[in-house]
Amino acid sequence: MDLRQGLPVSPGIAIGQVFLLEAEGVRIPEHFITPEEAEREVQRLEKALQEAAQELKELAVEVESKAGPKIAEIFVAHAGMLGDESFRQEFTDRISQKHYTAEFAVARSLRHWRKLFQGDAFLAPRVADLDDLERRLLRRLLGQKREELSSLQQEVIVVAHDLSPSQIATVDTERVKAFATDGGGPTSHTAIIASAMGLPAVVGLGTITNEASGGDMMIVDGSHGLVIIEPDEDTLERYRARRSKGAESGKVLLREFKDLPAETPDGRHLELLANIESPKDIPRALEHGAEGIGLYRTEFLFLTRESPPTEHEHFEAYMEAVRKLGDRPIIIRTLDLGADKFSPDTRVVRERNPFLGLRSLRYCFSHPELLKAQLRAILRASAYGNVKVMFPLISSVDELQRAKRMLEEICAEFDRKGEEYDRDMEVGAMIEVPSAAVCADSLARQCDFFSIGTNDLIQYSLAVDRANEHVAHLYRPEHPAVLRLIKMTVEAANKAGIPVGLCGEMASVVAYSALLLGLGVDSLSVAPPQVLPEIKKIVRSVSFADAKRLADEVLHADDPATSLKRLEEMNERLLPEPIA
Ligand code: PEP
Ligand code: MG
Repeated sequence: MDLRQGLPVSPGIAIGQVFLLEAEGVRIPEHFITPEEAEREVQRLEKALQEAAQELKELAVEVESKAGPKIAEIFVAHAGMLGDESFRQEFTDRISQKHYTAEFAVARSLRHWRKLFQGDAFLAPRVADLDDLERRLLRRLLGQKREELSSLQQEVIVVAHDLSPSQIATVDTERVKAFATDGGGPTSHTAIIASAMGLPAVVGLGTITNEASGGDMMIVDGSHGLVIIEPDEDTLERYRARRSKGAESGKVLLREFKDLPAETPDGRHLELLANIESPKDIPRALEHGAEGIGLYRTEFLFLTRESPPTEHEHFEAYMEAVRKLGDRPIIIRTLDLGADKFSPDTRVVRERNPFLGLRSLRYCFSHPELLKAQLRAILRASAYGNVKVMFPLISSVDELQRAKRMLEEICAEFDRKGEEYDRDMEVGAMIEVPSAAVCADSLARQCDFFSIGTNDLIQYSLAVDRANEHVAHLYRPEHPAVLRLIKMTVEAANKAGIPVGLCGEMASVVAYSALLLGLGVDSLSVAPPQVLPEIKKIVRSVSFADAKRLADEVLHADDPATSLKRLEEMNERLLPEPIA
């Protein structure tokens, strides 16, 4: 049994077999044979070893003619390793004594050597050679039996170095139960998507892909950032019990609070909304008591396709959402492409600082046809529901004005053509860059609402990459600087008489609910929606006056450690039960 600590990014407990997503995307579907099948497995193994060795020798000849003998030696050495008697013996022992399939024997043996090599200064540089051999042998052995992430045969926990947007796009959501990754930070893609899917996830585990093997039993505790590889029976039992207790108390909370408003005993209402990546997420949001959608991340429309969506495709997606929501509100955010998100244009020159580069609204301004198609579709959908539009990554008033001008031009065109749309459609600005928070008073005069995107606001104000596990400890939502920027934004919104919501992942962490209430935000938009009943419970048990006092104390702390301490003390005092 091996225990690993990572970053908790999506709560819940999952127990299942590891699907190790390697560079090849290979997974071993069968692990064990009957004793009678051992001879056949050994023959399969021998054949794969011979073929792989032959392949390597041919490769060495080819490489020698192209790159010279030094490079070719690498492949000669690989072929030599395959012919090594101790290698062969280790594989065949596992087949005949432990009744492993040939591929499982190979994976287990190579993983075992990998660990030994890693612990030895002289052998460590050869680890990549082992990885290469493993892939080569598994490719031969599995042939057509290779299993892809998109067509899983059973429920699995996906273990990967990091998940690219396109890998996530192909995830079979019926079969994937959790994610555990080497890389990633608190608001990385894996984190956001796991939350949206309501799946537990732990990221920033460092080397989990080396420690776990395909087919291992694994527990992912997304609430505490723990991953347990090959747990013993006692641990399994304990986690099974916790999982069913968690599911049961979730159901009880939902039953108790689903139809109650999030209102403090002294009458302050907090609007509770959900974040979605697709209209398919809406039913789950409503089932958990969301009053509407506070953030629709429309860039996910790009996920499964090569070319940008047409106006009609945008419109279809928005209409699906509107039909599911009735007259409940939906805030559609215009495309937030680039940086950590999807780039529609793989030909663009790699930027040195993509987070500070041509991302989001800036990208849309340089591709106005993209934004115009989307704005037309949003406007058309506004004729059928309670639709609002919001622009991301606003860093100055003129950007907001420029985006609004594009919208007004389309309105004028619709007027000329007699197209239906909501003339009073609200236009919002995301506050996710420090300059926007500092100039919030000017921005507030130019729009109908604010939505604070703390995922980016934290990364830009604290200079901490939101997706980098090496600096994840510095990513502190409770940092007084972040809280003061939120407070400035709220005050500017109040002064201008516009509502202000918060839609970053911070909104979904119940330990911050009382604080955010006290800071004066009008709404929280969360993912996963399962946290909504718990947030309601907190809001209904704290007076607005106490929450404001709490916010005031935390806000004036000198550093993040002090503000966290204050927050914990106040939560303990104010909240009915300790926060798990
Ligand atoms: C944010 O930055 O807080 C936000 C909600 O936007 P995203 O996570 O999509 O960048
Ligand atoms: Mg953002």
